[in-house]
Amino acid sequence: MTAATPGTEIVEVASGVFARLHEGLANAGIIVADDGVLVIDSLRVPSFARDLIADVRHLSDKPIRYVIDTHSHWDHSWGNEEFPDSTIIGHANCRSEMLDVEKNERWIEGIAAGGAPWSEEVKTVQITPPSVIFETSMQLYFGGRRIDLHYLGRAHTSGDLFVHLRDDRLLFTGDVAQDGGVPFMLDGYIQDWVQTDDRLLELDAERFVAGHGPVGERPALAEAREFIAALASGAASAKADGQDKVTARTKVTAELQQRFGGWRGFDRVEDSVGFAYRQLDES
Ligand SMILES: [Zn+2]
Repeated sequence: MTAATPGTEIVEVASGVFARLHEGLANAGIIVADDGVLVIDSLRVPSFARDLIADVRHLSDKPIRYVIDTHSHWDHSWGNEEFPDSTIIGHANCRSEMLDVEKNERWIEGIAAGGAPWSEEVKTVQITPPSVIFETSMQLYFGGRRIDLHYLGRAHTSGDLFVHLRDDRLLFTGDVAQDGGVPFMLDGYIQDWVQTDDRLLELDAERFVAGHGPVGERPALAEAREFIAALASGAASAKADGQDKVTARTKVTAELQQRFGGWRGFDRVEDSVGFAYRQLDES
């Protein structure tokens, strides 16, 4: 189904559960029940959130009761202010990151300098952290459906959560795992990420909706883990071999290129390897 917002597509991934995919930008999830709607990720700026709400209105006229933030990153959660009557749920570390004034100022500066269509609007965002938080897991019973929220450890950020619809064998993975796409890694915890992915793969799911890119099937989830594991172990062995950072960046990227060179965002890999290498010094 084509949504009203240009560049978006709404795909029904289970009965009453929709992925709103935005070409080249960030995705959202929509779960429709008889008496309300739940939204996963509020998107980057208020105008994007309003477009999302307009698209929701094609599916249901019921109130949006919940917004779930998969993580703190601006392109997923800085539309929260447009949901004043909804309960906003996130991980405890997601809330802490959204309350980190200096971190947010660095994001805003970088985005404003980028010259994108939202670079002015981003300066006006009222960052609105989740008001309901959890540490390890929580359950929501919504419209006759059980929704599990899991925290599985640090990965793409310190506060990534996974939305698991066990009866539908479906996951929303935020930015931890994409189908054939290299995630942004420079705010992540590279060595922890591999273990978090291991726990993610223990959840029973055959399909997943990622924060970016298409809806994926289970093999793509396993491949997303393989990518992170290869990058993490490549950086660690380069370091153990005594390679300097510049050499490690080049060599590990060349190794990854053979298997993952066709992925979206592969041009991010060299910086990510350098970041992983640096992070080994800190741990
Ligand atoms: Zn992110």
